[in-house]
Amino acid sequence: LKARYPNPMSYFGIALILISLVSSSHAGARSKIVLDSGHQPSTGPEGGATGVCGQKEYVYNDQVVEALAQALRAEDVILTRKKGETLVAENPLPEWKANPSLFVRAAMANQQKADFFLSIHHDSVSGLHLIQDKKECSGKGGLKLDPAFRKKYQFGYNIFVNRNAPKTVFAQSIRFATLLANALKKMGRVPSTYHVFPDDDCKSCVAIDSKLGIWSQDLAVLRTIQMPGVLLEVGVIVDSDDEKKVNSDAFRKKMAQAVSKAFKIYFRSP
Ligand SMILES: [Zn+2]
Repeated sequence: LKARYPNPMSYFGIALILISLVSSSHAGARSKIVLDSGHQPSTGPEGGATGVCGQKEYVYNDQVVEALAQALRAEDVILTRKKGETLVAENPLPEWKANPSLFVRAAMANQQKADFFLSIHHDSVSGLHLIQDKKECSGKGGLKLDPAFRKKYQFGYNIFVNRNAPKTVFAQSIRFATLLANALKKMGRVPSTYHVFPDDDCKSCVAIDSKLGIWSQDLAVLRTIQMPGVLLEVGVIVDSDDEKKVNSDAFRKKMAQAVSKAFKIYFRSP
């Protein structure tokens, strides 16, 4: 499946605006949420991180977005990418060159004038802290965290915001991030603590509230969207314990309910 998106100034953008004008007349009190499943089908870097037993990150992301779309039926949910679909930018703007798919995702949210942008990802660690272990994945061999690194930090979820966003956008993003973090902690999730340079190669990562797992990172999608938004790293798929915790339909369903509750509070009691 391939979805082709011309740049937002084209006729397709105009068609989308018309569709949203028509549909908004009976949208009622529903809020418009753009759900973004990170990365896309590819065995290479475009597929995102690689899990303990070789499954690419986009597969994990697609499964979470599917559960979320189901749980958020009461809202107006727009997916940047359907399950298994690849985003292709036609005639990308010059500034999209480095990663056209990322800018298509943000441009869609901007065109749709979404109330909120939620990007779903699963986390990895710097390759320096990964080792191959023959015993992993039922003896087929797989990835494992270097024991010293694993001992030093905690591995779980993280919520990223853009601290350089306009003041009100940043404040609203933090408000949702806090509701989401509390909902995740309530279901027993712990925040990751390892996005610290140089143990992690993220130079723009800054902890905003390390107890809640809320961090700022200079990410293309968060930099480009014009509305509040966060990027959720659901779990660390290169840690076999955390990968097992997050990679089940039961977990995804429970988490989707938690996210839905966070949105309900966010939209109904601003
Ligand atoms: Zn990712």
